[in-house]
Amino acid sequence: MSGVAKRYLMTPGPTPVPPEVLAAVGAPVVHHRSPDFVPIYERVLARLREVCRTDSDVLLFGSSGTGAFESAVANLVTPGEPHLVVSAGSFGERWVSMLTAYGADVDVLRYAWGETPEADDLRTRLGEREAKAAWVVQSETSTGVVADVRALAAAAKEAGSLVVVDAVSSLGAVPCETDAWGLDVVISGSQKALMAPPGLGLAAVSEAAFAANGSSPRFYFDWERTRQAQQKLDAPFTPPVSLVAGLDVALELLLDEGLEAAFERHVRLGRAARAGVKALGLELFSPDEDRSAVVTAVRAPAGVDSSDVVRGLRDRFGITIANGQGELKGKIFRLGHIGWFDVFDITTQIAAVELVLADLGADVERGVAVTAALEAFSSEPSRA
Ligand code: PLP
Repeated sequence: MSGVAKRYLMTPGPTPVPPEVLAAVGAPVVHHRSPDFVPIYERVLARLREVCRTDSDVLLFGSSGTGAFESAVANLVTPGEPHLVVSAGSFGERWVSMLTAYGADVDVLRYAWGETPEADDLRTRLGEREAKAAWVVQSETSTGVVADVRALAAAAKEAGSLVVVDAVSSLGAVPCETDAWGLDVVISGSQKALMAPPGLGLAAVSEAAFAANGSSPRFYFDWERTRQAQQKLDAPFTPPVSLVAGLDVALELLLDEGLEAAFERHVRLGRAARAGVKALGLELFSPDEDRSAVVTAVRAPAGVDSSDVVRGLRDRFGITIANGQGELKGKIFRLGHIGWFDVFDITTQIAAVELVLADLGADVERGVAVTAALEAFSSEPSRA
């Protein structure tokens, strides 16, 4: 890049952070037991319940999303107990490894990366082998697939299993009705649709999940310790106060927009990204459906390594997008559109992809993709 080095963060996490949020993060550090912080903490915990759509406690940890997920494993698992992980990508596999590390007897309902998990498969599998909990990923960020968590949760409940949902890249972007869908645990992190910097993990925990308490060792991530402390608005350990202050502002922005409006914006962003990609003549890897509103995964055209697309966007335009993960590295690239994104963030990505692919000698349709994206953004979303 030459000239003014403007940078664009367009990965599916971390995501861009609005200036109001950055200003709050940059304010002087306050003491976590002082009146400077306690009202912020109280507001954040209340706003998180609103975003998770739950009356239960939402536990907040100084950790990434994986840490909050580990809190669920550490609090629910007793070694030797049966658990079922639904895995269709990189994050599903991470949870298989984590549950295995805690000594759970793990069964895996495994799909090829890019497939969408089906509630009927889960129903059948739990009929064959019971599980204390079914662990599901709502938005599999590695593939762009958003699963029907409501249907998966219903199948798990029928079988008497608890439901734990990885909503790290989906909470605030697509509907996640914790109480209405009977989700026992919902995990997320600050750096995706919640529009804050990385560093905060959260877990919405139902009474049934608290009661299902396993015997794995834990201390920092002990749910009961954090719940009791939060109820007194007295964090059990020094919280990252600056990040909490930033999250407070970010959640206010999200709730001011309105969750339904945010969900609809994400549907439109997904439509715009897919329309742009298709107009270029490229093949989608993620499903061509409104639910796929978090990240659009695109197959690199024949003869092109997706790493070169990612590098080209970075070096030529200062745009950071994501490569494929694991077995998809070099084969797909991923355009993020979670959180603080509008349609011009999509057209920026699409225009840059067009130029970089043309440079790489790929046979792309020139001059139509940006218009296609803009038109798709304005079309009426059909509510799935
Ligand atoms: N689960 C999903 C679906 C994710 O997208 C991510 C983040 O990339 C994680 C879990 C892990 O979160 P973190 O990187 O915050 O630990």
